[in-house]
Amino acid sequence: MHRRRMRALIVVVAACAGCADTWTGWEDVPTATLTPQAAAPLESEWSAFVVDQAAVWSTALAASGCMSPFTIGDGGHIIALVPAADWSYGDDVAGMTTDRIEVREAKTGGVRRSAMLLHELGHALGLDHADPSFGASVMIAKPGSELAARDVAAAACRLGCGPCDRNTDPYSLAP
Ligand SMILES: [Zn+2]
Repeated sequence: MHRRRMRALIVVVAACAGCADTWTGWEDVPTATLTPQAAAPLESEWSAFVVDQAAVWSTALAASGCMSPFTIGDGGHIIALVPAADWSYGDDVAGMTTDRIEVREAKTGGVRRSAMLLHELGHALGLDHADPSFGASVMIAKPGSELAARDVAAAACRLGCGPCDRNTDPYSLAP
């Protein structure tokens, strides 16, 4: 029930389709390819941004001995910056992860776009929303969210390159 209350709080800014208890992320991590996509004139800016945020995850995971979960290239999971006029989800949703990631261009609900993309990449890695009562986490979509040590630990657990601590927030548990 705690979990349900938390979800209602954070779903306004970020979500993942089918998240809930069955979500285990993309099947092809740690070798998933990210394919940035944005309308002109933002293509190069968005591509560089996606590269940077993927590197934030990769660098943090490398410190735990994990291989990079993402590469950048053609033909992979679309990472789209979507103009507000083309947004197909609700006005209260600013990011979505399915087999692709979509980030709404004009509105991120007060959450910085970097935190939004790190959050959605976390979903791609198999992370669900974190419980705020366990401390900071980028998987709590709110202003000021940063990639936290427990996010990296949870991702390492999911990727099989780190221990799964069953005494912390259940979002870090392997399926
Ligand atoms: Zn989310």
